[in-house]
Amino acid sequence: MKNFKTLTLLIGFLLLFSCKNQSNSSEISDNLTDKSENPSQNFGIVIHGGAGTILKENMSDSLEMAYKMKLEEAIRVGHEILRQGGTAMEAVTKTINIMEDSPLFNAGKGAVFTHEGINELDASVMDGATLNAGAVAGVTRVKNPIDLALAVMNDSPHVMLSGKGAETFAQERGFELVDPTYFYTENRFQSLQRIKDKEKTELDHDGKTAFTDPFIKDSKFGTVGCVALDKNGNLAAGTSTGGMTNKRWNRIGDAPIIGAGTYANNATCAVSSTGWGEFFIRAMVAHDISALMEYKGLSLQEAAAEVIQKKVPALGGDGGIVSIDKHGNVAMEFNTAGMYRAHMNAAGELIIGIYKDE
Ligand code: ASP
Repeated sequence: MKNFKTLTLLIGFLLLFSCKNQSNSSEISDNLTDKSENPSQNFGIVIHGGAGTILKENMSDSLEMAYKMKLEEAIRVGHEILRQGGTAMEAVTKTINIMEDSPLFNAGKGAVFTHEGINELDASVMDGATLNAGAVAGVTRVKNPIDLALAVMNDSPHVMLSGKGAETFAQERGFELVDPTYFYTENRFQSLQRIKDKEKTELDHDGKTAFTDPFIKDSKFGTVGCVALDKNGNLAAGTSTGGMTNKRWNRIGDAPIIGAGTYANNATCAVSSTGWGEFFIRAMVAHDISALMEYKGLSLQEAAAEVIQKKVPALGGDGGIVSIDKHGNVAMEFNTAGMYRAHMNAAGELIIGIYKDE
């Protein structure tokens, strides 16, 4: 009997010891994971509201103020989500929602008009942790296309849906569809009229439309995008746009193309593009920046400059990007006169810019 008691005690001790050891080792490995992912709990967020011929001399003080206030309002929403430990993806989509709801930007309310006088919206998101992505193109009744892009990523087996099908998916997922007149803004409608008037006088010798610079170049402004790094070390990117004024034939730009308008990869960076979409698709801008970091070991700033200052202009395109890497380093690179942009770091320091050299 005595021997049995001793044996039970011994087994008990052994069990206790091994459990303690186990919990220690899982604590250690948890700590290691935390450390390798984001030791300092660093986080950050960057946004853009479009790039183009944005010149101070063409901007009133009140309009400039309105842009800056909206950029600040939007970035603070995402920053607060990140500060409270929310995900990069939540910060990205909620920040973009603010800009989509503002008539100042070419996304959601405020989207530019197609040749036929309607608004066709494109958007995409990408999650750097899983490399999962979602995109929609050519939707006409979805108030916040970025939310639908997220739903495509989370609730469908696909990456990209377009047009009527995307709207059926939206309805099935309980999205409230708005009347297309929701997207009407006088300002954007007048831009379409101006471009159409110009088009009439600029026909090429075949009598076909001359789709040349500056005809297209000045027909787009104000795509919105956001990239974020959260406290868990995860990156996310999103982009939303109305595309280019006077676009036809269900033209789709770079914004909903994963790798061109949007890309995120925890191993490298998150990127959102804005600019002349045809060139951004051909240069695969967002993925190219990530690839230069991954395969060539370039820093984020070096990679962004390489693509935006060399590769895109060499093809004849223009525009810019905002990006953030896994350490919270940021690049806001553009080759146009201006780009609406803002950055906020973990300490809450805010930088807002519109023109070059500021
Ligand atoms: N990249 C957008 C497009 O081509 C336009 C823009 O960013 O201004 O649709």
